[in-house]
Amino acid sequence: MSSPSKAQAADVHYRIAPADLHAHLFTVALTVARPAAGQELSLPVWIPGSYLIREFSRNLQALKARQGRHEVALTQLDKHRWQIGCTPGSPLELTYAVCAYDRSVRSAWLDADRGFFNGSSLCLRVHGQEKQRHTLDIAGTSATAQWSVATALEAIATDPRGFGRYAAADYDELIDCPVELGIFWVGRFKACGIPHQMLVSGATPAFDGQRLLADTRKICETAIRFWHGPRGAAPHRRYLFMLHAVAEGYGGLEHRNCSALTCGRADLPRRQESRASEGYTTLLRLISHEYFHTWNVKRLRPAEFASYDYSRENYTELLWFFEGFTSYYDDLLLRRAGLIDDATYLRLLGKAINQLLQTPGRTLQTVAQASFDAWVKYYRQDENTANATVSYYTKGALVALCLDLTLRREGRTTLDEVMRALWARSAGGPITQADLCALLHTLAGRPFDEELAQWVHSTAELPLADLLAAHGVSLKAEPPQWAQRLGLRVTENHGLHIKSVLRGGAAEKAGLAAGDEWLGVQVQGQGWRIRQLDEMALYLGSGTALTALVARDGRLLQLPLELPRQPNRRAAAPDTVSLSATDTVALGRWMG
Ligand SMILES: [Zn+2]
Repeated sequence: MSSPSKAQAADVHYRIAPADLHAHLFTVALTVARPAAGQELSLPVWIPGSYLIREFSRNLQALKARQGRHEVALTQLDKHRWQIGCTPGSPLELTYAVCAYDRSVRSAWLDADRGFFNGSSLCLRVHGQEKQRHTLDIAGTSATAQWSVATALEAIATDPRGFGRYAAADYDELIDCPVELGIFWVGRFKACGIPHQMLVSGATPAFDGQRLLADTRKICETAIRFWHGPRGAAPHRRYLFMLHAVAEGYGGLEHRNCSALTCGRADLPRRQESRASEGYTTLLRLISHEYFHTWNVKRLRPAEFASYDYSRENYTELLWFFEGFTSYYDDLLLRRAGLIDDATYLRLLGKAINQLLQTPGRTLQTVAQASFDAWVKYYRQDENTANATVSYYTKGALVALCLDLTLRREGRTTLDEVMRALWARSAGGPITQADLCALLHTLAGRPFDEELAQWVHSTAELPLADLLAAHGVSLKAEPPQWAQRLGLRVTENHGLHIKSVLRGGAAEKAGLAAGDEWLGVQVQGQGWRIRQLDEMALYLGSGTALTALVARDGRLLQLPLELPRQPNRRAAAPDTVSLSATDTVALGRWMG
């Protein structure tokens, strides 16, 4: 039960209705009890956790303002801000609609099956009143009579289906709690005493909810114990996973008390199937990743994110730490939770190493620069991305690996202890790279500034082979796949299409270009149709000369191409490697 005063609408109060399912329109009525003279309002241009300017205001329409029975003039100041010519102190009501047709976790969606929204897409920010309590009514319509509502917002007066009133301590919290509407599966469990809910929409009847709950609970318990030991207190009192299964798609967005996840329907665990499919392992990694963010980025966070500026890019050089280290631990905690074995862990690690080795951009961009440039590079990938940039997820995870293995080899501390000490030192708040350096110095008994300068602020190669060898894992060069031998990234469904041409490779020298469709090859005077790069072996044998037949802009081109000979398997700088355990005792100590 809640007291009547607590259930009252706050000074900033929204009423949101899934008004027109087929037109994908939410309607919003925002009441500001005490507006300022010339009250300003705006919609965020980005959503924290996803570093791209998305201009959510492009979906907002029919904005009107009234005080009492009088319409009030409003002036649009720029792409996302409005000023209202209102009388101060007397209640102001704004009404508008938002078109919700983005299936990702970052915006809003509404159709006959389902609704979903982030407050950053639907809730105008009332300037000057952001720190106040906000309330939100979610209204049903006759078309949504069978639907339910779920959100991590505090429910203060809701019906059994979850429609009704919710509250947020401030605007930040309001837009950090997405809302799901529709018909969905819900399961519950406790992890270290903390109530968790898992909501799944879009699943098929074969979905094994109990298995997903049991495995997710192991992930949560492993993460809580990682940060706080067996008896420590986690920073959240409850947690909600909002998982949406689609035909094709993958992604997640972290929040303080919940996460919004998208997975392929085929990745969900199925009844009468005990083995973890590759797709299901991918889903568990996503769950592990977003849950680890509950600590690492939502609380422990870059000093630049101490308070978000929703009107523009928020730059930080530290995404290699917050995304990369989270990526290191998402897999490691799955291993520690017993959800994957050593062989699977090493296969996933090998994949990450190959991804880095096959990215020419690692020699141009440091992982700190990649973090800073996320807004125009990582989130806006194109055919040149692999040549000019490096992923702060992939390289950041491998920096974490190098740091952890170096600390473990020296024997004074581990990265686990460094993470916990950072948490304690910052009280779960903003940090800088200097804080990390200072802690490393204290715990490891020597400075690590040189390593961080090399690994994070230069493009030097990481010392992966030596460090892995010291922990019972051998890294072996493998013969490159055709894509690496040619220097290409391709798609092979419905024909062979070139996505990008890697810097300095054979394909670039021959003049192949992104967007080309590779139709066939001529070898020693004979022409052959190809649909997949692997077919090359059939026609080329041990030869190295061919002519590529490609279609580009409606024309057919013949491009002579000379392949590099198969490189020596002990090449100094291989671009394809595999990992194997050579000392299970040493590996076991690292896996913890
Ligand atoms: Zn992440």
